[in-house]
Amino acid sequence: MNFEAVIGLEVHAQLATDSKIFCGCPARPPAGRSVAEIPPNANTCPICTGHPGTLPVLNEKVVDYAILAGIATRCSIRGKSVFARKNYFYPDLPKGYQISQYDEPICEKGWLEIQALPTSPDKRIGINRIHMEEDAGKNVHAHGYSLVNLNRAGVPLIEIVSEPELSSAAEAGAYLRSLHAVVTYLGISDGNMQEGNFRCDANVSVRPAGQKEFGTRVEIKNVNSFRFVEKAIDYEIQRQIGVIEGGGKIVQETRTFDSNKNVTISMRSKEEAEDYRYFPDPDLIPVRVTEARVNRLRSELPELPDAVKRRFMTELGLSAEDAAALTSTRDLALFFEEALQALSETGIDRAKGAKALANWLTGEVGRLLNESGVEIRNSRLTVVHLADLVRVTLEGAVSSTGAKQALSEAWSTGESIPAVVARLGLKQVSDLGELEPAVEKVIAAFPGQAAEFRAGKEKLLGFFVGQVMKATGGKANPALLQELVAKKLKQMGDS
Ligand code: ADP
Ligand code: MG
Ligand code: ZN
Repeated sequence: MNFEAVIGLEVHAQLATDSKIFCGCPARPPAGRSVAEIPPNANTCPICTGHPGTLPVLNEKVVDYAILAGIATRCSIRGKSVFARKNYFYPDLPKGYQISQYDEPICEKGWLEIQALPTSPDKRIGINRIHMEEDAGKNVHAHGYSLVNLNRAGVPLIEIVSEPELSSAAEAGAYLRSLHAVVTYLGISDGNMQEGNFRCDANVSVRPAGQKEFGTRVEIKNVNSFRFVEKAIDYEIQRQIGVIEGGGKIVQETRTFDSNKNVTISMRSKEEAEDYRYFPDPDLIPVRVTEARVNRLRSELPELPDAVKRRFMTELGLSAEDAAALTSTRDLALFFEEALQALSETGIDRAKGAKALANWLTGEVGRLLNESGVEIRNSRLTVVHLADLVRVTLEGAVSSTGAKQALSEAWSTGESIPAVVARLGLKQVSDLGELEPAVEKVIAAFPGQAAEFRAGKEKLLGFFVGQVMKATGGKANPALLQELVAKKLKQMGDS
């Protein structure tokens, strides 16, 4: 039997506001610091620690950010939305309930366009809702004790719930990347997955191909990397098919992904909405959003990743694949555009420069960023480094191997490209006066091969070029050398 997968994602994005959603406590560490550096419970007050008798006051910035997310995903924005209490007991939730939104969320019924592969057609994935809520604290288990850190309690989140319209792990990955790009371009979330401020629950079910009704779904909790989401979904689809083919039944449950073993593991049976006893929070009045406010925010909307991608393709002639890679984060796109600007100022053709820059950024630089897990803006590389790299290679001053070496030095020390090139002697020899004697010497040393070349064995050109390269310590300009060797081989045969 053939099966098809049905997937829906629930994504939590932490909003990049200064203060928490219902009190004045800092919502995140100061710039350049990590969450781990904040002493436990330093960012707390009676409100976010849930003391009786305190009252929440809504942070209006959170509402603005949620509306921006809604506009960017073509949602309709509700004129009136309501905060609700989601009741459950857990030590990191001192009030005994989480303030969230339930049947009247701030944004509803939008969509996001995805492309699972650069060659696949665009597909619209429906967004069911976006709602605002507070994060819970964190339980820390150490040295035989369990401790609670409430720094995260009351940190603002939006939850973005997709329709069950994704049909493969690759589509789910593309959706997640696309959503991540949207919130980071909007500047409403840092989107740092390692720190958990962009995380995802994946709902997965399978059904016989062609069947209308959905199969029973399993929810995989809190997966915090694009790659893990794809792996977890792939595993889960195969597991469910295996259970059904073995005559078993899928039970609705919550599972977790073990990224070391690449498997999902059952955590608990799934709780239903009724279990939470949702009701409107009597401490908070409904949120009223005027059309004027939505219009103001719409007018402030930055250029979104889809539009940037299209512009890179139409104006610069980049491939869909390069354009997608360069717009995966706003920082990378900005970096690319600034480097291109710097390059254009040196008189290099924009389209040519763009292609070369894209090659570096998606190739060697991308590899360095991936391997180190560093974001480009936190690395030692500057737009000047990239512009210089492209310039020296396009001008033929440095070979591509030499340029890679220069990049690796600049990556680890921040030294400028011209300085590395000078220090390591990476400049290519493009001076004919210097190359000619070397070429003549090599040809003279291999008279047999030279004769074979002249007799038509043109393959041997590479052999001679390689020999001269060796003789010049790899510094000869290869394009120039190729031409020169061919010319000399013929000339020396005529004489
Ligand atoms: P809950 O809040 O209990 O998790 P929702 O109905 O809000 O439930 O759905 C949560 C997510 O699960 C949504 O993203 C939705 O698209 C997805 N979903 C619902 N039914 C299925 C199904 N049968 N298979 C896969 N995903 C599903
Ligand atoms: Mg859920
Ligand atoms: Zn507080």
